[in-house]
Amino acid sequence: MTRSQRVVRLAPYIRDLADRLCLKDWRVEVIEETVNSKHHNAEIGTICGYKDARIQLCEDFFAKGPAKQRSILCHELVHLHLAQLDDFLRPILGASQQTTYDLLREMAVDEIAHAVGAHLPMPAVEDDPSAGKRRR
Ligand SMILES: [Zn+2]
Repeated sequence: MTRSQRVVRLAPYIRDLADRLCLKDWRVEVIEETVNSKHHNAEIGTICGYKDARIQLCEDFFAKGPAKQRSILCHELVHLHLAQLDDFLRPILGASQQTTYDLLREMAVDEIAHAVGAHLPMPAVEDDPSAGKRRR
């Protein structure tokens, strides 16, 4: 299965997670383009004033296990609950305050995603003999 096919296959799962996380009014799209940073598993981008988001995944996202994939996606989706706050604070905060806010927000998003993620369904496991995780 190609990366493009995996991304397409992931879309309904992300929609389901978003609905379960009370994000039914958000449009969430996962795009094929990978994140630029090697230090991030994923990134989510929004447009100020619109409930429209795009998720970019790391290069090896589909090589990760289902629990890690769920954790990554849950984290990115939780960010959407803070999108309006982020948009409000961005022009107000100075550079050092923004850095501190970004760090504190990441910690909070991680904790919330950890708490709720365990209650969310796992993504489907791909039957791919080359991945060495064949189901019986
Ligand atoms: Zn984050």
